[in-house]
Amino acid sequence: MNRRYFIKSGATLGVAAVLFRIPLAEALAQKGATGRAKGAAAFKKVVKTDEEWRRILTVEQYRVMREKGTEAPGSSSLLKNYAKGTNVCAGCALPLFSSKTKYDSHTGWPSFWSPIAKRNVREEQDTGDGMTRTEVLCNRCDAHLGHVFDDGPDPTGLRYCMNGVALKFVPGMGRA
Ligand SMILES: [Zn+2]
Repeated sequence: MNRRYFIKSGATLGVAAVLFRIPLAEALAQKGATGRAKGAAAFKKVVKTDEEWRRILTVEQYRVMREKGTEAPGSSSLLKNYAKGTNVCAGCALPLFSSKTKYDSHTGWPSFWSPIAKRNVREEQDTGDGMTRTEVLCNRCDAHLGHVFDDGPDPTGLRYCMNGVALKFVPGMGRA
């Protein structure tokens, strides 16, 4: 692993550890785990009824996040946002993607080469729409976020292709 990336990731995890009052050592151990996250029992899940989600989310957010929809490409206000900050889950505010891992994938959807921590996202096989893809969900409220592909840039080679409507940008957190 790229040493500079590791150090910067460690700093991000430090922020996450403070935010969630979890020991930094635990956060780092999670980060060091190989392979994709298998889910994390450490999170207390955010569980709401469909009616509650409809009250919290906009119609478009509900369609994407709770019904696994996809926003129109190029529609997200986050697409060209390269300010420093943290993209948190629009449903439960769990920090998901740092601006430090954002890049322009030219797909029309906000793209990142890594989540803030593997444990913050859950991945599932998605065979909908005649394709086999890997779905990415928030690991705390189970919101559909987007998909992850293997054609991303270094250092991970991954492209987390996100629906911007499922994210909320919080400026300033996780300074580079
Ligand atoms: Zn969430």
